[in-house]
Amino acid sequence: MMGNIPHNKPWITAEDRSAVDEVLSSGWITQGTHVAELERRFTDYLGGGAACAVSSGTAALFLALRGLGIGPTDVVILPTYTCSALLNAVYMAGAVPYIVDVLRDSFVINPAAIEQREFNAKAVIAVHTFGAYAPIQALSAQGLIVIEDCCQSLGGVEGVKPLGSRGHASVFSFYATKIITGGHGGLVWSAQEQVIDRIRDYREFDCREFYYPRFNFQLTDIQAAMVRSQLQRLDDIIIRRASIAQRYAQAIPAGFYLQSDVAVPGRMVYRFVIISPDRNRRDALRAYLKAAGIHTIIPVERFELLHRYLGLDPAEYPVAEHLVDTTLSLPLYPTLTEVEVNYICSTLERFHA
Ligand SMILES: *Cc1c(COP(=O)(O)O)cnc(C)c1O
Repeated sequence: MMGNIPHNKPWITAEDRSAVDEVLSSGWITQGTHVAELERRFTDYLGGGAACAVSSGTAALFLALRGLGIGPTDVVILPTYTCSALLNAVYMAGAVPYIVDVLRDSFVINPAAIEQREFNAKAVIAVHTFGAYAPIQALSAQGLIVIEDCCQSLGGVEGVKPLGSRGHASVFSFYATKIITGGHGGLVWSAQEQVIDRIRDYREFDCREFYYPRFNFQLTDIQAAMVRSQLQRLDDIIIRRASIAQRYAQAIPAGFYLQSDVAVPGRMVYRFVIISPDRNRRDALRAYLKAAGIHTIIPVERFELLHRYLGLDPAEYPVAEHLVDTTLSLPLYPTLTEVEVNYICSTLERFHA
């Protein structure tokens, strides 16, 4: 046995350390040139528009809603199978959440679940869940303001366009377990510069000539320098993640299957999720891997489903209710060694349900 393989681990290099060290030595550690440079990198990457770096992905979601003029009494559609940050952001904005089910094969929001309902929603937050492609165009075609949640999909490309470039605004997270990290951090991007201007104005409160209630959502240059340093190896991160995913895909035990688009070229593989035919076999695989020192997670637990938090009828969300019983996420990060990847593959191949 190999000992413990954690489910996740940040990748921090000597370059990251010296980038942070330079900021610490410079005498300017709060929001400054590194934050501005990080924003410029994102506008280049997403093909224009404007970007505003902020303190977290959750802050980015809240500010995107605010920047797009979504506020009290506006209805915002959310997928149930996601992170509670979405719900928190909607409530912080004073808006009203409307929860819908997801698609069985890709785990992303089901656009048909929205069409089937008659109500006056203003916006939707579409999450590229674990890197999968959320149906941005289908949602825009329904006349909704679309916020692309790219917290799990930075670096993913659909067709020729990077994820995050199609919606009315997009958000990113630099939390410790995300694709790149500064410890904490986030960013909002929009093609409409006035949306970002509003967010920028709201991000900092100090020494403002005209008063209205603002807040403090700033990122430090310490964090931005680390994120910029990590961004330089985003291509390596994408390639390494995809190559580990390819290896795992060959080793999946009989009867288990994968998220539908996981092998599409250009698709970011943030989480490698195995889907089991039923709960018993999922739990058996999890226990078997744990005994071998391989740590997995259930990527979204039943109690985390947004409709559960809100006390809505579970029968309205059959796909999400099924996914929480049948999904398992394997360790997938660039610092996994070849020896570890080989060990995980051979352990998977030996599993018999
Ligand atoms: C992590 C995450 C967030 C929140 O980002 P934080 O930086 O942790 O606040 C929002 N949405 C999704 C899909 C995430 O994975």
